[in-house]
Amino acid sequence: MEETLKILVVDDDEVDRMTVRRALTKAGVQMELSEVGNGNDAISALANTNYDCVFLDYRLPDQDGLTLIHKLRSSEIKIPLVVLTGQGDEQIAVELMKAGATDYLSKSRVSSETLAQVLRHALRVHHAEMQVALANQQLRESHELLMRKNQELERQRQQIHLQNLKLLEASRLKSQFLATMSHELRTPMNAIIGFSQILLRPKFGQLTNQQTDMVERILNNGKNLLMLLNEVLDFSRLETGRLELKPELFDLSKVINSTVAEMRSLLEAKKLSLVVQTDLENPLVFNDSVRVRQILVNLLSNAIKFTDSGGIWVEVSELPGNRVAIAVRDTGIGIAAKDFKYIFEAFRQVDQSITRKYPGTGLGLAIIDSLVRMMGGKIILESQLGVGSMFKIELPRQVKLPTTGGDNPALYLDNDEIFCSTQNPHQPHPQSTNKAPVGYPNFKL
Ligand code: ADP
Repeated sequence: MEETLKILVVDDDEVDRMTVRRALTKAGVQMELSEVGNGNDAISALANTNYDCVFLDYRLPDQDGLTLIHKLRSSEIKIPLVVLTGQGDEQIAVELMKAGATDYLSKSRVSSETLAQVLRHALRVHHAEMQVALANQQLRESHELLMRKNQELERQRQQIHLQNLKLLEASRLKSQFLATMSHELRTPMNAIIGFSQILLRPKFGQLTNQQTDMVERILNNGKNLLMLLNEVLDFSRLETGRLELKPELFDLSKVINSTVAEMRSLLEAKKLSLVVQTDLENPLVFNDSVRVRQILVNLLSNAIKFTDSGGIWVEVSELPGNRVAIAVRDTGIGIAAKDFKYIFEAFRQVDQSITRKYPGTGLGLAIIDSLVRMMGGKIILESQLGVGSMFKIELPRQVKLPTTGGDNPALYLDNDEIFCSTQNPHQPHPQSTNKAPVGYPNFKL
């Protein structure tokens, strides 16, 4: 014990105080020792001075040691308290320790060694207690901080929840607006298309070449606009879960061939070659033929739109697990890997600028994505910039019928996989040649 300790001895017996003083001095304790003779003086001494340790006689004239310890501890005086007990007081030791005494020593055992040892022990215990108290205090503070942070987080969570509800409502209104607008615009657009077609019929009078040219432009633009309106309408229906599949049994090869035939003129206009390869042992599928056709039209339109030279391949094959695959490959501009994840989002295009070269709403792939999910299929994309792209749709031969109405979009979200790879889309593919077992539980497919 190097430093000078401030020690208070509380004892009404002058001889006992002297015994303690001598013992501590003999033990070589560096100290400033103060002495008082009763409990009240002890309380005021402790209130005015910071002591390092108190030696307290259990039997004081104005109060017993237990009462004094209670008073000191309740007045937040935290110093090591060693109680010196007289003959017969030892039984009270447990009570004293419970009340807050750091240690106790029978007066009969007081010697320089025992006092020095008790002092050292009391200082150590007190130091440890202080550290525990400090750690507890810190724990309490961090607990309170955490509680405050939790409350703040909960407030933020509620705010985000509210914002989400508002966003959902805004999105619902947007979809409703899109649906209403596109629906309303389709009626006049059909009239424009219908009357242009009537005007072009010779029995309604011969038009001059210039007039024919103008009416044809009206008709073509009208058809384009109608297609865009249909895309917007489909998208808003898909978004709100109001689009239902109408599955039927049909010949997939026939739908593929007729769709490709309808688009041949677009290919020829761009001088693109076309190869259609249908490798189906069993061409029958149970699906919505209109929507399968729509997927193919969208994929082919994109392939034609984004290909300036070269060709397009349409490959239809059977896959294991009673599935079929429809792949559309092109030698077009290709898609950078960084854009793979965006292009399936609604209104997303690789070139988002107003001055972009290729027109479109950015809804085609979003619609395909939603339809393929509804059908329980998946999309595989392989593309390389400047080399070309391949979009492959894998579909079950028989789609599942929705169990409830089409009002719940989550109903269709159980299979949401799009597989993308930067592989050259024109390299041969290992997995696509396997033949699926023919036959189906519910249908003779
Ligand atoms: P849109 O064709 O109306 O722009 P899509 O949703 O059909 O919208 O396609 C989104 C984007 O994906 C296109 O704008 C284009 O950047 C890219 N993309 C789609 N198909 C191809 C393709 N075959 N070749 C290159 N890029 C494509």
